[in-house]
Amino acid sequence: MYISKSFIPILKNNPSEAKIKSHQLMLRVGMIKQSSAGIYSWLPLGFKVMKKIEQIVREEQNNIGVQEILMPTIQSSEIWKESGRYEDYGEEMLRIKDRQNREMLYGPTNEELVTDIFRSAIKSYKSLPQLLYHIQWKFRDEIRPRFGIMRCREFYMKDAYSFDVSDEEALFSYNKFFLSYLKTFKRLDLTAIPMAADTGPIGGNLSHEFVILAETGESKIFTDKRIFDVNGDQTKLEKKSLEDLRKKYEIFYSVTDEKFNKEEFEKKVSEENRLKTKGIEVGHIFYFGDKYSKPMNASVDLPGGKKDFVKMGSYGIGVSRLVGAIIEAKYDEKNEIMKWPISVAPYDISIIPMINKNDTTALDKANKINFELEKNNIDTIIDDTDENFSSKIKKMNLIGAPYQIIIGKQTDGDLLEFKEVGKETQKINLTEIIKIINKQKAKN
Ligand code: ATP
Ligand code: MG
Repeated sequence: MYISKSFIPILKNNPSEAKIKSHQLMLRVGMIKQSSAGIYSWLPLGFKVMKKIEQIVREEQNNIGVQEILMPTIQSSEIWKESGRYEDYGEEMLRIKDRQNREMLYGPTNEELVTDIFRSAIKSYKSLPQLLYHIQWKFRDEIRPRFGIMRCREFYMKDAYSFDVSDEEALFSYNKFFLSYLKTFKRLDLTAIPMAADTGPIGGNLSHEFVILAETGESKIFTDKRIFDVNGDQTKLEKKSLEDLRKKYEIFYSVTDEKFNKEEFEKKVSEENRLKTKGIEVGHIFYFGDKYSKPMNASVDLPGGKKDFVKMGSYGIGVSRLVGAIIEAKYDEKNEIMKWPISVAPYDISIIPMINKNDTTALDKANKINFELEKNNIDTIIDDTDENFSSKIKKMNLIGAPYQIIIGKQTDGDLLEFKEVGKETQKINLTEIIKIINKQKAKN
């Protein structure tokens, strides 16, 4: 992509309305544009990153055997009246009437709709477990939308639902998601800690929030530092191994503020291991048994002729919020340098030719390099404008490709000035560069 032809509307200065660094960078570099309070358009740079995150989330759902579907954004109030949540959900739900005066709503979550889909097709325990997910826009009329796409009204979420014959089987499903979340966040180069959480309006009895540490986060957390050393993402997809995995985390005290108990915290965690801080909730999993299947009459035939309500769980990941969460974790705001993890970077590498008026040598060379890189599936962005060198570097540092090639007067022969952002410049040839980048990409 050529800077001169791109739709990347970069601002010279930080927009004053942005209070946290992810919001600042996203506006600064034109990843999003607000269309009304808490509602955003995603511009090419932001959209590219979000789509890459979405794809990683999708692959890790598929890897534990969840089947992808797509449910609509607009739902009928009927099913919400069946579950009893139509009144309970309150003002966060955006309610709409169609031309026949029927009550509709923009889905804030999908337990009811997916239960209705399930009950229309699945009648026997023999078809269980069923694990379904979709990735779709949600709307919640948040009282105070803020921090850009971190707490907005329309946001993009992966939500999955599990249906099982018994509590024991349902916990197996729950634990599969627990593992899949650890893997997903690791691929995004984030350390997300599972924390025992309250179940809130979704309801139920077992729940974990996945939180990444950030001073700007809105979740207060209380944890034992040693939980950061637990590594469980290699666990097998078997009942016993998955149970052990959860235990490995659960031996450490780790809760959000709704569950916080000072006495317990001080009893279970020695002073040097206590950590009270803030974080960003990027995922949330719940087990709630027959909370929805009972009022909505979603039951299956059991062996021996009896029937029982199916046991359900639900599992969310904030796909759009993750864009901001990664920036909070990776953006060096003081030096104005963003470095995206290669797994979600909008471009793998930026090419910065120093162009003098009427002299196209550097740009010609950049074009040749670009051609070779793209041929090897490396996504590039070239600054082909005649701005001065330092403003080109500034711009590319904000866009955040993790690698850079600088083409200047000194560039002769095959040796190129190449660097991984944040590291020393090296002089190596293009074949080496391609190897380094593709090796890094293959790891993800
Ligand atoms: P929060 O406590 O942040 O309000 P929640 O507990 O209401 O979130 P869930 O119902 O658990 O949210 O939704 C699943 C995921 O969707 C959350 O973990 C979060 O990453 C994301 N999410 C929820 N609300 C928003 C929002 N207003 N804007 C962006 N992402 C959101
Ligand atoms: Mg939550």
